[in-house]
Amino acid sequence: MTIDTAGVGTCGPSSREWVRIYEVGPRDGLQNEARAVPVADKRQFIELLVAAGLREIEATSFVAPRAVPQLADADELLPALPRPAGVRYPVLVPNARGLDRARAAGADAIAVFTAATDEFTRHNIGMGVEESLHAFAPLLDQAGALGWWRRGYVSTAFGCPYSGAVAPEHAVRVALRLLRLGADEVCFGDTIGVAVPTQVRALLAHALDSGIPAGRIALHFHDTRGMAIANVVAGLEAGVRCFDASTGGTGGCPYAPGAAGNLATEELVYLLDGLGIGHGVDLGGVLAAARFISGRLGRPLSSRVGQAGGWDPETGRALQ
Ligand code: MG
Repeated sequence: MTIDTAGVGTCGPSSREWVRIYEVGPRDGLQNEARAVPVADKRQFIELLVAAGLREIEATSFVAPRAVPQLADADELLPALPRPAGVRYPVLVPNARGLDRARAAGADAIAVFTAATDEFTRHNIGMGVEESLHAFAPLLDQAGALGWWRRGYVSTAFGCPYSGAVAPEHAVRVALRLLRLGADEVCFGDTIGVAVPTQVRALLAHALDSGIPAGRIALHFHDTRGMAIANVVAGLEAGVRCFDASTGGTGGCPYAPGAAGNLATEELVYLLDGLGIGHGVDLGGVLAAARFISGRLGRPLSSRVGQAGGWDPETGRALQ
């Protein structure tokens, strides 16, 4: 395959062939698991992720504790995390109250959450897309004034559980608004795991044509229908260099009960290692963190690389 590196430059320590892995397990993963994990176990999980080399770990969410009980310990968790140089812990912030709590807990990076479709945002956050952008504007402003890093999510970028197929221009229009409001990065999410590589190519072509630099785009794929890795390859070929993943493949799909959710970090690492693309993350370390969290959740590892392990080309043996 060919990897077009045009647009790389703002994404990592190496000028060429470097991908940022943005870990979402502690937030997006655990938020969608039935069993709540105690705060000490979350901290240990994140320590294992840092030890594996992950440098961007979405740690938790400052939404109302009642709304997401799995993450109700955010105020306690964030200040308890180790803070080695170069590690960033973005947190989800839905409103001014959430921003105040995040600030008190020592946050320095936030993510806000909207979508490409009104039907989804109305169900998910109780407002339309336009209204959500108005609500997030002061949060992005305030975070910018504090010098924080800011990400904007565009969920349902490829398909919506309430309104069906989504045209690229809808997702790109929302991404452009988020960038104009100050977001450093926009992340297109395949919330229900329906996209195939042609759609990824179409969306990214439209985004790049609209003036969004590849270095400010991230992609968040779900493996609900087994397409996540194929979609990552399409993203790489279009020049994107930041991909979300969840160690252990945690986080089911709320719109397809029992199905897989987030792309597993171990699968992304295995792919990038095989492609010879740098990322700074150790597969053995990710597998150790994956085993830890699946033990705490009381279920076996769902990802294929989690089950099979890595592979040592010197000996031909699987690596756990
Ligand atoms: Mg997800």
